[in-house]
Amino acid sequence: MKVLKFGGTSVGSPERMRHVAKLVLDSGRNIVVLSAMSGTTNSLVEISDYLYRGNVPGAQETVNNLRQKYAGVIEELYAKPDSKTRAAEYVDRVFNYILSFTEGEFNTPEEKEILAQGELISTNLMQIYFEEIGVRSALIPALEYMRIDDDGEPDMKYAASHLRRFLDLDPDMEVWLTQGFICRNSRGEVDNLRRGGSDYSASIIGAVLDLEEIQIWTDIDGMHTGDPRFVSPTHPVSRLHFEEAAELAYFGAKILHPTCVLPAKLHNVPVRLLNTMDPSAPGTTIANFAPDGTVKAVAAKDNITAIKIKSGRMLLAYGFLHKVFEVFNTYHTSIDMMATSEVGVTVTIDNTKYLANIVEELKDFGTVTVDSDMTIICIVGDFAWDNGRDYCAKAVSALKDIPVRMISYGGSNYNISMLVKASDKLQALKQLNDKLF
Ligand code: ADP
Ligand code: ASP
Ligand code: MG
Repeated sequence: MKVLKFGGTSVGSPERMRHVAKLVLDSGRNIVVLSAMSGTTNSLVEISDYLYRGNVPGAQETVNNLRQKYAGVIEELYAKPDSKTRAAEYVDRVFNYILSFTEGEFNTPEEKEILAQGELISTNLMQIYFEEIGVRSALIPALEYMRIDDDGEPDMKYAASHLRRFLDLDPDMEVWLTQGFICRNSRGEVDNLRRGGSDYSASIIGAVLDLEEIQIWTDIDGMHTGDPRFVSPTHPVSRLHFEEAAELAYFGAKILHPTCVLPAKLHNVPVRLLNTMDPSAPGTTIANFAPDGTVKAVAAKDNITAIKIKSGRMLLAYGFLHKVFEVFNTYHTSIDMMATSEVGVTVTIDNTKYLANIVEELKDFGTVTVDSDMTIICIVGDFAWDNGRDYCAKAVSALKDIPVRMISYGGSNYNISMLVKASDKLQALKQLNDKLF
């Protein structure tokens, strides 16, 4: 058995939903994870923003727009009046529920309830569609098996036992449907796995059930050598190591959510990235082995801030780095990249919520300078230093004429990271794309 996850664009219209249903039926008896239809989660975020501001008309207007959109979807998706009525009643209940939050003070648990509705709608509409075309499907509620702790970590044992219970209810079911993204937290409230988190849902399901494969179906034929929104030409990469995929996802390759790699890797379940619009394309297979000695792809991560701490005392001060890291630890701020020298250290962060506090405390150890609006350019491949290739030199020379703020190489065998000004990002990506592939 496999788990197949379809992203927002893949279920973005009635036509696409019918196409997904066909792909699912052609794939055998599997578990299907759906995202919300594209644009829906953004609208739900917008509604919540209005409610936080107490702007009830703003929230109502956005709800009305969504109502209209779904009325059109229902009209087009189903042929039978009975399916249309049931779907319309379901969607109506959802929107009335959302509007019930216009009364009283709006809070985070209510926001999470609202954000969950996109995946609840898409899976319910799909189930009604399966019923209409005579396919037996079971809708497994994610809120009854997906649970996170206070650190946002999923409870794998709970997911495994609760999912199995649902599957055992009717082992001959033709299709099992479930929602991506949504879960409960340790207080039992509705919560989520963060934006783009449906990939994570699929990976958790595939891992805890030890499935044959985790398939992430999206709008492109796999991981490309570069971000097609910024460079061209790009080509699909046929095989990636889990570590390479983790680096790419973390450093900005949007096709894969960064959290999605670990459960699959730990349980050794291959992940395949496939194209809903071109199902016969081979896509990308991510596994514990991949071709050696090649550059696979380049990604970029924006909104990076570099912090330099320069200290004359570094040579003598035993435990200097420990003290520096302790500051970041206190403020729960993770470091993406670092470079050290005898007299100074530079680290980068992407979460600047506590920047002022961090800088203030770091001043106890040296002179602190901050460079904001930076971008990490991450080149990923098999870069074992002893493989006799000169990829590091090639990558550095490809950035000729672009000022590089710092370089990180050797932290793993898979990554060369370079920090540049955000305004140089596009040019850097183009030059690397031209020179490396
Ligand atoms: P979904 O809605 O299916 O989850 P996403 O929008 O999250 O899809 O991810 C797919 C998008 O990722 C592609 O349309 C593409 O623009 C973007 N992307 C960024 N970098 C890459 C890359 N290296 N390879 C493929 N796609 C990429
Ligand atoms: N619908 C959610 C989002 O837009 C989750 C997902 O699509 O993965 O972020
Ligand atoms: Mg996605």
